[in-house]
Amino acid sequence: MQVLIPEAEIRTRVRELGGRLSEQYQGRPLTILGVLTGSVVLLADLIRATSIPLRVALIEASSYSGARTRPGVLQIDSRLVPDLKGRDVVILDDIFDTGHTMSGLYDAVAAFEPASVRSAVLLWKSARTVVNLEPDYFCFQIPDAFVVGYGLDYNDEFRNLPYIGIPDDADLQEAVRRNPDGAGRTGPTAAP
Ligand code: 5GP
Ligand code: MG
Repeated sequence: MQVLIPEAEIRTRVRELGGRLSEQYQGRPLTILGVLTGSVVLLADLIRATSIPLRVALIEASSYSGARTRPGVLQIDSRLVPDLKGRDVVILDDIFDTGHTMSGLYDAVAAFEPASVRSAVLLWKSARTVVNLEPDYFCFQIPDAFVVGYGLDYNDEFRNLPYIGIPDDADLQEAVRRNPDGAGRTGPTAAP
């Protein structure tokens, strides 16, 4: 698999993000709200790169459809979200692509009456963004390619890769062969 962003570069940028959040939210009631499941690797690394008191919370977002190549209807499950009233929230996701997911998350989080809401992502596919919103914090801007690793999956695999990679056709086929029941979940929406 082609490595797009090596492990060491991710580590550097995630530490920088932790430093920025620590400065900007010093003395503030910060909750970092990780979006399941793709953000879990980033969440674990990022919170250990911060130096201020903060809380961690989780929300689930997924786009399901029959076809692997098309994004489906966005579903947000906020049953795990604790009280955010009056708190400063940073929604943390793996990737900001079209932006529909983050846009939906903003609406869902607003219902909890937080003091402020910002977004942070590892990756931003800026050329594909269609919503009137940009991530407040991002570690890398990337081209329009389907990527996996560091939390991002294809067919429920590859989340454990320590780097961000661009899978080739053989990688994708292998993942489906190993896990045929998973077919139809995350897919290369960036493909033509
Ligand atoms: P958006 O709603 O911004 O179009 O897409 C965000 C969601 O789509 C991400 O949370 C992620 O689940 C999925 N996604 C978008 N691009 C990619 C990609 O290149 N690789 C993987 N694995 N997931 C992606
Ligand atoms: Mg996601």
